[in-house]
Amino acid sequence: MDRDGLDSLIDERVRYTVGFAHKNSPFYRHWFKENGIDTDDIRVHEDLLQLPIVSGRTIREHQPPNTPDFQFLSTNWEDIFTIQETSGTSGTPKSFFLTWDDWKRYAEKYARSFVSQGFGSDDRVIVCASYGMNVGANTMTLAAHRLGMTIIPFGKCDFASRAITGYRPTAIVGSVFKLLRLAHRLKQEGICLNETSITRLVAGGESFADESRAYLAETWGCPVYNTYGSTEGTMCGECTELAGLHVPEDLVHLDIYDPQMKVFVSDGNYGRAVLTTLLPKGSKAGTLLLNYDTDDTTAVISRERCACGRTHMRIFNPQREAETVWILGNSVNRVDVEASVFQPENMQFLNGEYEAFIYDGGSTGEVVMRVSVECSDPEITDRRLIEDCFVGKFLKNKKNLVPHYEDRTFSVMFNFVNPGELELYKIRGRPKRLIDRRSV
Ligand SMILES: [Zn+2]
Repeated sequence: MDRDGLDSLIDERVRYTVGFAHKNSPFYRHWFKENGIDTDDIRVHEDLLQLPIVSGRTIREHQPPNTPDFQFLSTNWEDIFTIQETSGTSGTPKSFFLTWDDWKRYAEKYARSFVSQGFGSDDRVIVCASYGMNVGANTMTLAAHRLGMTIIPFGKCDFASRAITGYRPTAIVGSVFKLLRLAHRLKQEGICLNETSITRLVAGGESFADESRAYLAETWGCPVYNTYGSTEGTMCGECTELAGLHVPEDLVHLDIYDPQMKVFVSDGNYGRAVLTTLLPKGSKAGTLLLNYDTDDTTAVISRERCACGRTHMRIFNPQREAETVWILGNSVNRVDVEASVFQPENMQFLNGEYEAFIYDGGSTGEVVMRVSVECSDPEITDRRLIEDCFVGKFLKNKKNLVPHYEDRTFSVMFNFVNPGELELYKIRGRPKRLIDRRSV
């Protein structure tokens, strides 16, 4: 569809979805009334700016035990196929209700990503993302059915190496770090990665630096494509052009807000990603979201046709706001640290695993970042080289920290450890690699 056709389809779906929310979602019915919104005034996607923003907290506040029933549930129980919970980092998990049609729309988005990455019926794909409450692995499996692909649903990256030699899979889906650890293990088991049947990797589940992706691609000797998905229904994927993540604009509307959440930022500028479910006319949804703050930041790269031929807009790899710390007035994301670790010169000594902590310095106002990295052999590691490469890249990215580094109000310390010795292994769940331990 060309841009004009796509934009009018989006507007038609905005109108239908807002009307559906008014009619079927107890939360949104009250929300429109409380905010004095006449849903007939929401005609085009720009009108969504007039509506308030909801967040994960809003969902939690409108489900048991806070309310007697699930206020975001927007259809009859008979229509609900599954109930998904997000692995909430704090408090009660958010509940999402999915109809079979919701699943099919989710799968449609992943199917498009797979096609745009060159997948087809000849492919055999090992899925290392976990099945269960996360929608990702199940959605990819449904998407594979549409493409006629074969799925090997291990759900984890600890499968035996015979799966590689026996089934001759053509691709693996996992997170960057799972796929790196898998590579190291397979090498130890005597498998030469360049000689396997793997032709591509799909990385998702968390944001990553271009540098860590490049290292992963080099390690496996094949391209690595990014997908970004969530239970809330964003499912964006890179095509073979590697020119940003295509947003399935006919099924999910993405606005980028300024930090005050008052206006849209113009294309090319970073801001908060706010999503709105788009329902095709006549369809139902178990849970729908209007103006939902994803807590992720990104920017629109382009709304022009991509070199792959697709018209869907492309965005930069989103970063999690929860993984951002502020150092002397500068925002630093976990990905900034990761990019500095994965400098090519460093990788002759490192295995890629890292963690960083922010501490108060010795005097008031001083900040120390302590970076721990795992070395294949700390004894023969060129520590000076790694420190120089890290700091060089980090300050190149964060130029405003240079004067602070020079007058030592900001300093970086390094800790070189053996594989398996980072603190993050002691904590269950998704590893936290950038932790602020300052007192204030
Ligand atoms: Zn493309």
